Amino acid sequence: MSKPIIATASLAGCFGCHMSVLDIDDRILTLIDLVEFHKSPIDDIKTFSKICDVGLIEGGCCNSENVETLREFRKNCKVLVSVGECAIMGGLPAMRNGIPVKDCLEEAYLHCPTVDPADRMIPNDPELPIILDKVYPCHEVVKIDAFLPGCPPSAELIWKALVALVEGKPLDLTYDLVKFD
Ligand code: SF4
Repeated sequence: MSKPIIATASLAGCFGCHMSVLDIDDRILTLIDLVEFHKSPIDDIKTFSKICDVGLIEGGCCNSENVETLREFRKNCKVLVSVGECAIMGGLPAMRNGIPVKDCLEEAYLHCPTVDPADRMIPNDPELPIILDKVYPCHEVVKIDAFLPGCPPSAELIWKALVALVEGKPLDLTYDLVKFD
């Protein structure tokens, strides 16, 4: 029997949610028995060549490349999951949402005291992704099927959710797994 296929991506995130996947410790061996990883930073597969059963998304959308990646995941994954606060509500990167993009760029590249005066310029290479007016949670860009809260979600939560998703069972996440206090 073929194994369920999982893909993962980090958009505007810090890779902490991916680290939490690895935090399931030796159960990673069981997971590798249960599933096949496809496009993911975990195995460095960079392009989709098949439809995946579950897509795990870390981080929200702060630029055009994030939107493109997220849409590609929606197209290629039967179930798409927002993993962690950045994917669910923008998280820390969304702290810029109340500040105009122009002011953010000027502060980072022109006025920041740690920038060498000789290097003071706002990057403008046409190859760079376009920065969005704000950081968008994933569900405001594409349909998201499930949400795993936390910063990062605990390894236990990710494990239980993954097992349920690959077995096609409902996500029955108890309060102790999703509480923040
Ligand atoms: Fe990092 Fe937390 Fe965002 Fe996950 S939710 S990408 S751990 S900041």
